[in-house]
Amino acid sequence: MLTHNNFNHEVIIVGAGIAGIAASKILTKKDIPHIILEASNRVGGRAKKAPDHFGSWFDIGCSYLHEGEINPFVGISQSLNTPVKTNMGDQFSLEKTKFLINGLCLSKEARKSILEEEQIFKDKLSKAKHYPSDKALSSYLNMTSSYFPIFSNLLTGLNGVEPNLVSLKDFASVKEGQDFIIESGMANLIEKWGSNLTVKFNTAVKKVSWTENRVHIETTNGGFNSKKLLITVSNGILSSNQINFLPELPDYKIAAIRNLPMATLNKVGLCFRDGTFQKNHEGWYVVCSGPSETSISSVMSFEIRTKPKNHMIIFFGGKEAKELELSPKKVLKRIRLMLSNTFGHEVLERITKSITSSWGLDEYSLGSYSYGLPGKNKDRDLLRKSIDDTLFFAGEATEKYHYGTCHGAYFSGVRAAKEIIPKLKL
Ligand SMILES: Cc1cc2nc3c(=O)[nH]c(=O)nc-3n(C[C@H](O)[C@H](O)[C@H](O)COP(=O)(O)OP(=O)(O)OC[C@H]3O[C@@H](n4cnc5c(N)ncnc54)[C@H](O)[C@@H]3O)c2cc1C
Repeated sequence: MLTHNNFNHEVIIVGAGIAGIAASKILTKKDIPHIILEASNRVGGRAKKAPDHFGSWFDIGCSYLHEGEINPFVGISQSLNTPVKTNMGDQFSLEKTKFLINGLCLSKEARKSILEEEQIFKDKLSKAKHYPSDKALSSYLNMTSSYFPIFSNLLTGLNGVEPNLVSLKDFASVKEGQDFIIESGMANLIEKWGSNLTVKFNTAVKKVSWTENRVHIETTNGGFNSKKLLITVSNGILSSNQINFLPELPDYKIAAIRNLPMATLNKVGLCFRDGTFQKNHEGWYVVCSGPSETSISSVMSFEIRTKPKNHMIIFFGGKEAKELELSPKKVLKRIRLMLSNTFGHEVLERITKSITSSWGLDEYSLGSYSYGLPGKNKDRDLLRKSIDDTLFFAGEATEKYHYGTCHGAYFSGVRAAKEIIPKLKL
């Protein structure tokens, strides 16, 4: 029922992920009474750590501080006495990548060709924003090239979806930069940063009834009232209609949610006995197999780290990520084959534990992060737009230049809180 007084809170934030936490921090600084309603029993959302038996330093969700030069989590981690590793440069740059085929290094000629092809792709991409119309990212790839399977694997991992489904202009708006790492775990950092906030856990928002400046929220844990509502849940949750809006969201908002669907990126984490990998093994790998280096049939990409333990993070995007969720045993068999071809059969005996993510099935996000459908690159502006100065939107998907990232989620939360504050004074 919509009540006309009894506003318990000036603002209610839905979701205690990075966007919700960032918004709450701004409101707290300004002494604005507010509460976060969170469906799960923890803060962090897609910043999620592995269970203790695997090692809580391992991030099942986000882990890299992309665009390290401007990433607010560098300062946040320093203020929380959490060391950040900042000497890796662009972790995923192809120049530094260790390319292998059937267990052997790729030839110099092949590496040169890959770098040349990448340069052509980047040159085209830098011009994309000047073109009036949008198309699929795959239109800028040379699909007849021998190295297309490599580009396809890397771009599918990055976007969580195959390049033929991704908006070229949306992708082109994201900048490259340095990638920093928190060896003790990004999720642990977010948990520390997000402590001491007013969060109501195990409180899933089910229904939002609103008129201008008045919101009534029904949850699995009772009803709440506020003047303003900030929604930070993923587009996976919004498009699943788990939250019922009364009156309904406008058509343009519903279309924007659909045009920025959730991609799937999953990880397999493997721990190895101490000493399996040395410092010189660390880094980013692209491992191919096939009859020859100009006839590649499959590609896997992963990172090896030796701290805090010897481990490997293998990434799967798009269809492969979904396959991992449906048939994990099949994918793990492929991983074992790749490992024994690359590092020798003995390495299999040195695996001590493994963990697999399944973000597509995760009930609190229903996917890993948003991507733009071809032709829909402007929809992030529509997703971000507030409604009647009462419903506000944040979360990674609302960020035009940093979507799909932790710093994007942070910027969106700060932006939305700053948008709300002057409206409270009306
Ligand atoms: C596998 C993977 C790897 C990634 N790697 C990186 C990386 O290396 N670097 C990087 O920058 N980014 C990475 N990302 C992306 C990054 O994790 C996200 O962009 C970011 O965490 C999103 O934060 P958010 O606050 O927008 O959303 P969320 O974290 O999804 O927060 C939303 C919150 O809302 C809650 N919620 C959902 N439904 C309801 C409801 N009905 N009622 C109340 N609460 C609800 C959820 O439980 C959640 O806590 C990765 C993501 C994944 C999945």
